[in-house]
Amino acid sequence: MANATSGGPGRISGDGSVTAHAPAKVNVHLGVGPLREDRFHELTTVFLAVSLYDSVTAWPDEGLSLTVSGEGATDGAVPTDSRNLVWQAAELLARHAGVAADAALHVDKSIPAAAGLAGGSADAAAALVALDALWGTHATRGDLAGLAAQLGSDVPFSLLGGTAVGTGRGEQLSPVLARRRTDWVLGIAGEGLSTPSVYAELDRLRAAGELPAASTAGAPDDIVAALGGDPAALGAALANDLQAPALALRPDLRGALDAMTAAGALGSLVSGSGPTVAGLATDAEAAQALADALAHTGLFRALRVVHGPVPGARLVG
Ligand code: ATP
Repeated sequence: MANATSGGPGRISGDGSVTAHAPAKVNVHLGVGPLREDRFHELTTVFLAVSLYDSVTAWPDEGLSLTVSGEGATDGAVPTDSRNLVWQAAELLARHAGVAADAALHVDKSIPAAAGLAGGSADAAAALVALDALWGTHATRGDLAGLAAQLGSDVPFSLLGGTAVGTGRGEQLSPVLARRRTDWVLGIAGEGLSTPSVYAELDRLRAAGELPAASTAGAPDDIVAALGGDPAALGAALANDLQAPALALRPDLRGALDAMTAAGALGSLVSGSGPTVAGLATDAEAAQALADALAHTGLFRALRVVHGPVPGARLVG
């Protein structure tokens, strides 16, 4: 893993391995439309890639094997067989490129599993980039984006990174040229939440009339404008239609959101399907102070100070 040489597919280290990393994401806007015929919801979302990374290392080997370390490695939260998106990414790229799926893979996780931070998607995107280099398949970014969309709705964004508006299932991306840095605290609250269960709860609450039948998140225009300017305006514009169902399933998250604002966050929201809560700070120093204040509340299993936007999946040496 050490001593990697620089440059594209030649980035293979002394032991023959290639490593790529990919960032977590926060949906700073998530509007969920009605169920489509294919049982997916129509989304309008604004993704922000943040500086919390998983890495995937690939070595030449016969057949596929997978090991995992870090977040979720010991509690069974992350599968190490063909249920893992990294495994599926390897098989898909091999099929696409017409090569044998031969590699030993290792995932080192800093992104908690089932936390609404797209950890599995980040791993899949990193695996595509690492294996493209290891196998010399010379896939274009467009090829990789097509494979990413087959692996999951969030995988294309994990590959692209930065800031982007996502439509469709979230896989149709338009990059947003907002390079202004924003600083956040991610509060990881308790056990993971399954994404399908949060969508099912949203459908149930809408059908029961406990929530409006349509999205209440509004258009993403305010958030896109705020991303390039005033953090206070950004804090006020944060919106997520999955927050109400996540709170219905996990009422304790209300306390986590309130604690973020009480500790000085400019705004807070549930990230994706939760249970991670993201709090926006004025700058890096304020984000660290926010995390320090929240550490004393006992509400969070872990707190991470991050910033965005950061690039998507790429080789690291
Ligand atoms: P989503 O991207 O759907 O919002 P999430 O970010 O909340 O999901 P992930 O960390 O991607 O959650 O994990 C969701 C589930 O995916 C896990 O519970 C696990 O069973 C499965 N999974 C498959 N591959 C991975 C992986 N590499 N890392 C973590 N989970 C994985």
